[in-house]
Amino acid sequence: MTTEKQEFEQQLQAYVGLEIGPPDEGLDPVNETMIRHWCDALDDRNPIYTDPEAAKAAGHDGVVAPPSMMQSWILRGVEMARPETMKPNKQTELHALLTGHGYTGVVATNCEQGYTRYLRPGDRVSTTTVIEAISEEKATALGIGYFINTREIYRDQQGAEVGWQVFRVLKFKPAQAQPAAADTGAAPATPRRMRPPLGHDNQWWWDGIGRGELLIQKCGSCGTLRHPPRPMCGACQSIERETVRASGRGTLYSFTTMHHPKIPGYEYPLVCALVELEEGTRLLTNLVECSADAVKIGMPVELVMTAVDEELTLPLFRPAQANKG
Ligand SMILES: [Zn+2]
Repeated sequence: MTTEKQEFEQQLQAYVGLEIGPPDEGLDPVNETMIRHWCDALDDRNPIYTDPEAAKAAGHDGVVAPPSMMQSWILRGVEMARPETMKPNKQTELHALLTGHGYTGVVATNCEQGYTRYLRPGDRVSTTTVIEAISEEKATALGIGYFINTREIYRDQQGAEVGWQVFRVLKFKPAQAQPAAADTGAAPATPRRMRPPLGHDNQWWWDGIGRGELLIQKCGSCGTLRHPPRPMCGACQSIERETVRASGRGTLYSFTTMHHPKIPGYEYPLVCALVELEEGTRLLTNLVECSADAVKIGMPVELVMTAVDEELTLPLFRPAQANKG
């Protein structure tokens, strides 16, 4: 690690433990109108949120708010999408520091909540937020970056805790915005599929794909097949490894069809398929040359090596041709 990088990471770590700024105050008290809209939008029919009698029968003094609404009582509107209009705080300062070092992307990755008591109409909610942890630099499919954890404590008008939230974001250097594109000053290329993360344990498998071969790892000791690639046999703990080439025939073990969100570089509807190869291992892939309506669990499928762009070939599957005739 360079000294410059050490200094940068020390600057980052100086934010850990800091409260980001004054409390966020909810604009409106907890109220029955918003509760009703929430339940309506989510089709939550638990009567304790809308019917005072049902709430009393359940031991409450009157209707209560759905606990999962907690954050909605303090969230601001579209101003959140315009950071320049928001008051600077330690969190925006930390993000700006990362952005200034090339970590321009941000994506939310985790959210956990805990509820201490039910909120009731009339409660006034406020939160304080602490930067709880910043990871070391991590390599992810999106690019290298840092995970930032913040912990919000939710309080009522008496200052008593009503719940908490831990929120994690990844601030990253977008993988496709690195030197090649930047140097040429060219317009952004057509969006491409995400690149597979390559490492010591799976490079050989992708090298096989590059040669047009779908390989399966085989234990060199007991012969058990395994996928995805990994260093040790789960059956006998041997690290002796061989490979066999799959026939490319299999059946659709399970699938899900994605319509939304539409990630650039993919075509929708996107059938994400778990294919069971005739050799017995399963792999995640996409089913192509098949309308989403025609996909059926158990259908015979076959490998179709597909160049999805000028650099990346993927082992996709289509309905077995014999089955079509
Ligand atoms: Zn084995």
